[in-house]
Amino acid sequence: MNFINRIGAAVSAYGGPDFAWRLATGLSRRPVVLTYHRVLSSSDEVVDKTQRDVTKGEFRAHVKRLLSRRRPVTLYDIVKGEIGDGQVFAITFDDGYGDNFRTAAPILRELGVPAAVFVTTDPVSGRGWLWWDRLAYALTLSVGKSVSALGRNFEIASEADVWTAQAELTRTLKRATDRGAVIREIAEQSGMGNEPPPGLYLTWDDVRALRDDGWEIGAHTRSHRILTSLPREDAEIEIDECAREITDETGTGPRLFAYPNGRPGDFDDGIIAHLKETGFVGACASDAGPESNEPDPFAVKRIAPKGGEPASVFRLRVSGLYYKLRR
Ligand SMILES: [Zn+2]
Repeated sequence: MNFINRIGAAVSAYGGPDFAWRLATGLSRRPVVLTYHRVLSSSDEVVDKTQRDVTKGEFRAHVKRLLSRRRPVTLYDIVKGEIGDGQVFAITFDDGYGDNFRTAAPILRELGVPAAVFVTTDPVSGRGWLWWDRLAYALTLSVGKSVSALGRNFEIASEADVWTAQAELTRTLKRATDRGAVIREIAEQSGMGNEPPPGLYLTWDDVRALRDDGWEIGAHTRSHRILTSLPREDAEIEIDECAREITDETGTGPRLFAYPNGRPGDFDDGIIAHLKETGFVGACASDAGPESNEPDPFAVKRIAPKGGEPASVFRLRVSGLYYKLRR
């Protein structure tokens, strides 16, 4: 059990299971924006175990827990500051995974909760994998082999070796300009096919169905490159082409954006100015805790619950205490 899990357990043990929650909701009336990637059901293939995606059961429990204390609103309402009184929450999804439509949407429809999805257009348009999925899948298929990449040799004897190699390669490849070629080489050594498993990513038909269901369709670039790692012109193309494709496919231009990776340093004033010029009204960062009382509409903070976390840690995350303890 890591440090934060121990704190969560200790706080719950001290004051009963809802103590942390009561403490935190008493402290904070700030809007809470959650961010998820995949929502897994038992039939889904897990291509990347290091992502710690939530299961369908965990996702439903999170939303029901939030509904018992807070009112669901849209991210757009939060960005525009139109949320009225009381405590609110909004749900978002990043990247454009197919299970958002298959698994999460029916749960949210049943519970009457709106959502936004930030679409990366390359995988949704069938132009291949998101790079980290392809890397994880290739390494998983390489157990029992050795893989050479970046002038090194990775012996992949077990699942633990997959995770070690993946962590090391991911660190280097996140901002590498030759990333595509390196991953292609690793994929070729693994013998995997070029196409992602069917249903891993949303299709445009799925996106249109989500739109018809009331979801906000936001933009998350074309290929998920970290915008500040690119020459400005290329960063603008990543944004503009993504927005153009969403407009062509759904009939509506996206109003909201999520920065790839979304940490401080992954976006800057120039990127924000370009988003404003292009017609966006807000943008989300990643996993930085609950919002302040007056959110910066172009750096909306979000909470990223992980699969396998105890309910006490979910409560600590929503309360913001988790992020204070982590500092
Ligand atoms: Zn993303």
